[in-house]
Amino acid sequence: MLNIVIFGAPGSGKGTQSEKIIEKYGLFHISTGDVLRAEIKNGTELGQIADRYISKGQLVPDELIVDMLAGVLDRNEETKKGVIFDGFPRTIPQAEALKKMLAERDTEVSAVIGLEVEEEELVDRLLKRGQVSGRSDDNLETIKSRLEVYHRQTTPLKDFYIQEQKYRKIHGSGSVDAIFDSIAEEIDNL
Ligand code: ADP
Repeated sequence: MLNIVIFGAPGSGKGTQSEKIIEKYGLFHISTGDVLRAEIKNGTELGQIADRYISKGQLVPDELIVDMLAGVLDRNEETKKGVIFDGFPRTIPQAEALKKMLAERDTEVSAVIGLEVEEEELVDRLLKRGQVSGRSDDNLETIKSRLEVYHRQTTPLKDFYIQEQKYRKIHGSGSVDAIFDSIAEEIDNL
């Protein structure tokens, strides 16, 4: 069973590549950003809290995210066949919680696919997406906070997964298909 974490800065292409991974490997997709945006749209209590963090480009508190993710795993039987985690974990406590959650389900993270893209290109891509996404966080000021938060809170995870020998570096610039080919090569070698 494959459990893949797709890892990278905002704008690195996690969502785009996740779709291609699902198409080829049939994994269950969990994007914490998508789950949170659905909560906001539905006006739930979690959505109202999350909105305050997301619109400022900050991370939603770990306990809320971890409970939310456990709920998704428990509600969806298909997750037992393998999952692609997109946008999670984003902090060391989240990575530790994921390890524990998967161990309780007799499984583990198979690999972390790290999409590495130059900062300038990330900002360009996010601004372009902002013109069509309608996302409250795709504007220059919030993009800058998201990238800062990424460097401060999320990049330490790279070392965490290097130590666990799970990190696979992927050069995340170039055509979507060429990037996907490099990802598929890593996955096929697992
Ligand atoms: P991006 O990778 O482009 O920032 P996402 O959709 O993954 O887009 O996330 C959007 C926002 O949702 C984040 O800036 C953050 O506020 C919140 N979020 C998503 N996933 C998490 C997480 N695992 N932990 C904390 N906050 C999260």
